[in-house]
Amino acid sequence: ESDTAMYRAKTAGRNQIAFFEGAMQTEVEERLTLERDLAKALDQNELHMVMQAQVDQNGVPLGAELLMRWNNKRRGMVSPATFIPLAEESGLIVRMGDWVLLQACQILKHLQREGFTFPLSINVSPKQFRQKDFVDKVSATLAGEGVDGNHLIFEVTEGLFIDNLQETISRMDKLADLGIRFSIDDFGTGYSSLNYLKRLPLYELKIDKSFVQDIPDDANGTAIVRSILSMAKQFSLKVVAEGVETQEQANYLMANECDSMQGFLYSKPTAPDVWVEQQRAKH
Ligand code: C2E
Ligand code: MG
Ligand code: MG
Ligand code: MG
Repeated sequence: ESDTAMYRAKTAGRNQIAFFEGAMQTEVEERLTLERDLAKALDQNELHMVMQAQVDQNGVPLGAELLMRWNNKRRGMVSPATFIPLAEESGLIVRMGDWVLLQACQILKHLQREGFTFPLSINVSPKQFRQKDFVDKVSATLAGEGVDGNHLIFEVTEGLFIDNLQETISRMDKLADLGIRFSIDDFGTGYSSLNYLKRLPLYELKIDKSFVQDIPDDANGTAIVRSILSMAKQFSLKVVAEGVETQEQANYLMANECDSMQGFLYSKPTAPDVWVEQQRAKH
């Protein structure tokens, strides 16, 4: 009897191991094909940029963030939450980042021709920023496209300030010489000290949507938002709130002198041409 039980347990165990190995194999394979598809996506025009306006209390756009989208024939839309970390790990983000900068310049010129003069924000990943020739590349792209750096804002995350701070600062200074401004994305969610705030050439802080979504009911989240706004004021930094979805959130932010707001309450990320048409229809 106990022999049979042992036999059963062993068989079940083996099956389970086989099952896990199978699942792991599939996961690894899936990751690899995703990575391969993403590398192809860049060359096969499967990537595009959408924009989301950042508006003042009257709904006037003061800026817009460009966000990447990947539409794959077989997979459909793949979320940036899936493909950006993958691109970051594989190093593909460097080529993708070059492409985003070029897109940003072209979209900027398109918007300018249509009469919109606000700056565009792009997300710059740490790996992209840390390339040795990053400043030269940016400078060459701006020159090639005839775009002035003061129309671009680079969104970086706090992770960039964890090591090699001195080198990061000197690189930021060089980019600032080109006119480029810096915004700290997802501010307050990263693991880094506030000490860097006074040492970096910063323009703006972006309040992470996880805090914005706590306004006004959650006392802790609301306190964090208020602290960020007051700290920004001390350091003469602008503040953008991301992920604004409700009028209550917007009212609170406006009452506390947040400079601009970005979120579904105002607009979803949209293709730039479509956005321009929507603006035309409004006026
Ligand atoms: P992020 O830079 O913090 O971008 C904000 C995210 O919030 C975007 O997600 C945007 O679509 C979403 N969002 C905007 N309004 C609302 C709202 O009202 N409610 C909610 N719940 N969400 C809102 P998305 O486009 O999925 O991008 C996710 C992240 O992927 C970005 O976070 C950014 O870190 C990264 N990413 C996107 N595009 C690029 C890119 O071109 N380059 C790099 N390096 N990273 C990118
Ligand atoms: Mg961003
Ligand atoms: Mg953000
Ligand atoms: Mg965020």
